[in-house]
Amino acid sequence: MAQRQRMGNQPMIVLSEESQRTSGKDAQTMNITAGKAVAESVRTTLGPKGMDKMLVDSGGSVVVTNDGVTILKEMDIDHPAANMIVEVSETQEEEVGDGTTSAVVVAGELLDQAEELLDQDIHATTLAQGYRQAAEKAKEILDEQAIEVSTDDRATLTQIASTAMTGKGAESAKDRLAELVVDAVLAVADEDDIDTENVSVEKVVGGSIDESELVEGVIVDKERVDENMPYMVEDANVALFDGDIEVKETEIDAEVNVTDPEQLQQFLDQEEQQLREMVDHLVDVGADVVFVGDGIDDMAQHYLAQEGILAVRRAKSGDLKRLARATGGRVVSNLDDLDSDDLGFAGSVAQKDIGGDERIFVEDVEEAKSVTLILRGGTEHVVDEVERAVEDSLGVVRTTLLDGQVLPGGGAPEAELALQLRDFADSVGGREQLAVEAFADALEVIPRTLAENAGLDPIDSLVDLRARHDGGELGAGLDAYTGDVIDMEAEGVVEPLRVKTQAIESATEAAVMILRIDDVIAAGDLRSSGDDDDGEDMPAGGAGGMGGMGGMGGMGGAM
Ligand code: ADP
Ligand code: MG
Repeated sequence: MAQRQRMGNQPMIVLSEESQRTSGKDAQTMNITAGKAVAESVRTTLGPKGMDKMLVDSGGSVVVTNDGVTILKEMDIDHPAANMIVEVSETQEEEVGDGTTSAVVVAGELLDQAEELLDQDIHATTLAQGYRQAAEKAKEILDEQAIEVSTDDRATLTQIASTAMTGKGAESAKDRLAELVVDAVLAVADEDDIDTENVSVEKVVGGSIDESELVEGVIVDKERVDENMPYMVEDANVALFDGDIEVKETEIDAEVNVTDPEQLQQFLDQEEQQLREMVDHLVDVGADVVFVGDGIDDMAQHYLAQEGILAVRRAKSGDLKRLARATGGRVVSNLDDLDSDDLGFAGSVAQKDIGGDERIFVEDVEEAKSVTLILRGGTEHVVDEVERAVEDSLGVVRTTLLDGQVLPGGGAPEAELALQLRDFADSVGGREQLAVEAFADALEVIPRTLAENAGLDPIDSLVDLRARHDGGELGAGLDAYTGDVIDMEAEGVVEPLRVKTQAIESATEAAVMILRIDDVIAAGDLRSSGDDDDGEDMPAGGAGGMGGMGGMGGMGGAM
């Protein structure tokens, strides 16, 4: 597409007045700068000694976090190329649950390295090819190095869970939390898949992180509907009904003309009779506890209480599903269909106080396929950050159980990749060789940043690390606490293979996509949606988006 084409001496205008267009080198530079700015904004949070960010939204609510993807989501970035880098962290979060900062930092460094080569007149397409080749090779190298972990290797699983929480708000209690996380994931694992959604998290403000616990069952954020119902039922048969226990509306909207009191009484009796029958049905099938998705009529509540049944109304459908998994019951949508076979079983169903709130605990189940982690912490911000760390940890344990392959952490895989990719570059030859070498250099951003954030000299650390890998020590990584280069596997710092392969894959894809763009054409109204209106003649998002991020980068540097 061309903005202006000359037809004779008349320029032909094909874009509207308000459209903004940047082409060639300018477009490339703009996009690279935006992408790098995103990476820069999370860089200081990487690793065990990484700092946290405080993010304040327009409504004044505050998030304090170390989690890459959370920072980027909260930052409200609106530059299109910058958003491609944000997507890298989102993919990472979805696929593995950890490594979101690393993925973005690598993407930023790939762009930085590319910029230098572009300046040397290496064509973007050549660069893209070289990067793709290098990424492909990197995956092979990592696959070869991966350490097998069996699903019953609890010690390694706990180390993986713990590594993911290093340097986060959960750090002080990470040993205990790691045990809970492993228990939780093992409990909900199905044969063919693991859905960590079946691990619910209940956050409680008050108490310390150490007092967090795992309930092998479900906690429902409700109370029993009637005070005369039991507080607790042991060995409970649990009915799960996604409907209501109320009087059925008459099908036809008929008016009932009541002429004498007896008739009215008859009418009411009929309604009571309906409710009575529903409750009787629950009694007949042997239910001791019933979770109802919708409402329960007052009269029915009274009958249920009389029968000693503990009933909960307006249970969320997600809770009903979790209850079904945990108790082995089945959710029915028509009460008449409820059979004794549909009932679940729990050793204990009880209303208990948790952090000042009453909730229903359904526990002591035979095989808890749905569990609840109760996370405690001193303040709301603390608990929120503990939750994010635990979510990462759940993700890596899940990934390890599914894939059975791990790698040492602390920059060891990146250092090894850099070494082997430089060898590989020689075999590539041509101009692509330069791109492969640049890719190798870019990966070293991880150990370099780990060192920087730990207050170490990054050059010394890298030199040390390279020497050890040259000497054949695949697992040599940087101990962020002492500054020594040590065997990370022996130290118990391990991560799933997929955390690394996914990060490299998404970072490469995003970098290549950005590099291949030589034209940015933005519709006019894009710009007016930005809040930064300095009236400069800049392409869409160029001023608005970058202004915000420049501020973020500055903040990172100051910390
Ligand atoms: P990400 O969002 O990428 O997971 P993190 O802040 O969690 O970012 O940092 C992850 C990096 O920290 C990984 O490279 C990991 O190997 C490293 N790491 C974790 N624990 C240690 C440790 N004890 N010593 C050195 N590096 C560690
Ligand atoms: Mg992490």
